[in-house]
Amino acid sequence: KDFRNNVKPNWCPGCGDFSVQAAIQRAAANVGLEPDNLAVISGIGCSGRISGYIKSYGFHGIHGRSLPIAQGVKMANRDLTVIASGGDGDGFAIGMGHTIHAIRRNIDITYIVMDNQIYGLTKGQTSPRSATGFKTKSTPEGSIEQAVSPMELALSAGATFVAQSFSTDLKDLTAIIEAGLNHKGFSFINVFSPCVTYNKINTYDWFKEHLTKLNTIEGYDSSNKELAMQTLMQHDSLVTGIIYQDTSRPSYQELVPGYAEEPLTKADLTLDQAHFDKLVAEFM
Ligand code: SF4
Repeated sequence: KDFRNNVKPNWCPGCGDFSVQAAIQRAAANVGLEPDNLAVISGIGCSGRISGYIKSYGFHGIHGRSLPIAQGVKMANRDLTVIASGGDGDGFAIGMGHTIHAIRRNIDITYIVMDNQIYGLTKGQTSPRSATGFKTKSTPEGSIEQAVSPMELALSAGATFVAQSFSTDLKDLTAIIEAGLNHKGFSFINVFSPCVTYNKINTYDWFKEHLTKLNTIEGYDSSNKELAMQTLMQHDSLVTGIIYQDTSRPSYQELVPGYAEEPLTKADLTLDQAHFDKLVAEFM
């Protein structure tokens, strides 16, 4: 099972997104997928190119809309494993509405955000994840806004799988993506993926200095939501590992009548008169 294709990524040398690509490829192989079992749907941004760099079905969508497309793919073909992916600008600015609703819906897809705390593709503007005081050409005096806290937001929105990782921790990141792919419901994975070209603050060294691995915190229990929220607040969200997982809640698909019986992609959608009458009868 080889999820590498022959497309050479045009990310800058050293970009954190390379490791995320490698981790997705390894995790997909480790959970036993074949390239034609997987669909990778991405938005717009440097990280949005990832759907073209993995040997699978892929769709490079429009800005902030990877999640609606990914959810449509999953609803039409339950046999596909679906990964949605993009950057922090894509998912937490223009796409934030979709992010919150996909989380609370608990549809069985894995959403991987490459969080570099800046807009890289458009050459370095402040993003929703940039810290207060962050200086870019769009905020030359420093950002006066508060950064979005995606992990806390996800917990508040009813997420059943919330995790965070760092792109250089390839082993941990791969294991987290594997756990996300195996989770029955929406798995939300935020990955600190440094932009080496435009973000000179949140660098690899900065993350190494500031991140705490959850498995080094004594007594941490990822099934305890209250503890998860407290830990995030204590560590300013700079933690890595599986923050919270609830395996008891059914996924969206399990609750949709008829979903389990036949994928839409295999259904006979020919609308002859008899089929139409049957459909009408079902809704009467
Ligand atoms: Fe990566 Fe930044 Fe280069 Fe974009 S601009 S490819 S995010 S390093």
